[in-house]
Amino acid sequence: MKKFVSCFVLVLGSFAFVGCGAAVLPEEYVASQGHSAFRQMKRQERISTNPKHNAMVKRVAKRIADASDIELPKTEWEFVVFENDAVNAFALPGGKVGVYTGLIDLVDSDDELAAVIGHEIAHVACRHGNKRLSQGLGIALGGVLLDRSMKKKDKDDRQLARIGYGVGSQLLVALPYGRKQETEADDRGIMYAALAGYDPRAAITFWQKMKKQSKVRPPEFLSTHPATDNRIAYLESKMENAMRIYQQGKEARGESP
Ligand SMILES: [Zn+2]
Repeated sequence: MKKFVSCFVLVLGSFAFVGCGAAVLPEEYVASQGHSAFRQMKRQERISTNPKHNAMVKRVAKRIADASDIELPKTEWEFVVFENDAVNAFALPGGKVGVYTGLIDLVDSDDELAAVIGHEIAHVACRHGNKRLSQGLGIALGGVLLDRSMKKKDKDDRQLARIGYGVGSQLLVALPYGRKQETEADDRGIMYAALAGYDPRAAITFWQKMKKQSKVRPPEFLSTHPATDNRIAYLESKMENAMRIYQQGKEARGESP
């Protein structure tokens, strides 16, 4: 534990002084923050007992997690359906994924749900939570670390790590991903969906529905995500490659094209 704490402080310290963004936290630390935030959400939010919704999410998520296994071996995946009208889904480091019933109501097929879950799993695979948390903790703890270095006195490292611990899990939930991260997750997300045997074109129909829905009530999913038209255009530009993966997978499984 002691070694972990000093490593954590060292990493934080290095980017607090050389600028945010470049440094990346130890992955085990970030995963522990993801697990902690998810535990808290499960305590605070209503978990769905709808067997159809739960079965759908588990079925799709399992196939996509298996498809991404090369990049994320040994991940302790957990997929939970939250009873909430918000059209939203999220992924936390360490493989914790939440899907809201509002989003399930909007999707019409496993293929469309695969587009969303593929996107969320891609955030985990790209370690976006780690990058987001590095930046967030740099802002939140920069002052504490600066104070510590100026006094040139050893404060209790454990106390510092404790502050970071609570702040970290909150930041993971509160901070939005950047535009570049969203684009990366879109690209990789449809590849995962295609690899898992889901039609990647469903990502486009899903986002078209999101666009329509946003005119009535802007879904939360959109507030942290790029403009829908840009997103659809980007997905279309990636579709040829995704369709090739999808068709090859079908042929390999002996399914009709
Ligand atoms: Zn996203």
